[in-house]
Amino acid sequence: MSRSAAPLSPLAPPPGPTRRAADGARRRTSASAVLRSVLEHGPVARSTIARLTGLSPASVTDHCARLDALGLIRETAAPRRSKGAGRPHVPVDLDADRFVACGVHVAVPYTSVALLDLRGRVVAERRLPHAAGTDPERILASAAEGLGSLLTEAEGRIPLGVGVAAGGWVDRDSGTVVEHALLGWRDVAVRDVIGERTGLPVQVDGHARALVNAERLFGRARGSRSMLHLFVGNVVDAAFATHDEVHHGPRSQAGAIAHLPLAGGTEPCECGRTGCLQAELSERTLCRRAREHHVIRTANPVHVVRAAAGGDPVAVRLLVERAAMVGRAARLLLDVLNPEAVVVTEVGVMHRQDCLAALREAVGRRDALVVPSSFPDSVLAVAGGSVALDVLYRDPLSVLPVPAGKSGEPN
Ligand SMILES: [Zn+2]
Repeated sequence: MSRSAAPLSPLAPPPGPTRRAADGARRRTSASAVLRSVLEHGPVARSTIARLTGLSPASVTDHCARLDALGLIRETAAPRRSKGAGRPHVPVDLDADRFVACGVHVAVPYTSVALLDLRGRVVAERRLPHAAGTDPERILASAAEGLGSLLTEAEGRIPLGVGVAAGGWVDRDSGTVVEHALLGWRDVAVRDVIGERTGLPVQVDGHARALVNAERLFGRARGSRSMLHLFVGNVVDAAFATHDEVHHGPRSQAGAIAHLPLAGGTEPCECGRTGCLQAELSERTLCRRAREHHVIRTANPVHVVRAAAGGDPVAVRLLVERAAMVGRAARLLLDVLNPEAVVVTEVGVMHRQDCLAALREAVGRRDALVVPSSFPDSVLAVAGGSVALDVLYRDPLSVLPVPAGKSGEPN
């Protein structure tokens, strides 16, 4: 397409800085499409990437050279029939051994720190219990320190950046946890604090949205044109994405469903009402009920799942009832948003077929794909790291080549 010969349409950007910005945006979008196709199809020939993305072979070659120079992809062994000149047919794949994304997830009882490779796989993970309370300064300092020691252990891996995820109201643009009632956090400038302590670029997002991005990039609902994600832990949050865009809304307030009323709910909520989703569905409520029935003595929902696996019928009933309640909540949102796929992060649904069946029955719609999280054993680690990986896959050229000697510990 010859741009110079074409008359300027009223919508064409005028030459100059705006045009350059538009070209830059186009280059980022194309680089993103190329890297995504290597993620999804690698090892994959450049000629195939051209076909998949609709980009010209020359442009794909160009982008691959750039991504290769950044250390994000590399050529894999050439197929035997290729005779050197057939470069477009030499497959390329992610270079999953070089970079890691650092992840931090702040839950109510503990913080998870983790390193993820470019495929979203957890390379290393550590849990830091909030033994001394939930003071934000202390928690963030210990998270930064935890990442530092993970990076030291993962010698030679270069950190791309840090993604921080949490429940409650998290504003991506300001990098702030605006409000997280259960942690007692208000206006905590997470991005600035972690950035200062690690010396790395930091992105912050709500965990329900972070996990939508993880599903989009690495999960089994990949390819769905619209997706609803329900996070049911101690906090209850939702996120919604169409195509590749997760809805944030003004100040990232979308998905706050903690206080939606659940019909038939009996739990008093801290907001003064009864039967709010979060009060009914939180892990605290599950564990309290399980303790009342002498199923467990702890406050750990995994112990309820273990009791159920060991054949405790009360544990099974509590989990199945909770899954059905989650299904009713999902149904409400499904009717409003009508997504192709519903992904549920909830401990019973992720680990038990009977819970998944109860969830699906309560949702009651056969036209939507209703699936548990793709990351049952590392969902919190994946949530944090995915915030950083999402940024990478949207704009791979933002990665700065780091000299090998400079990798490693944040300061
Ligand atoms: Zn409430």
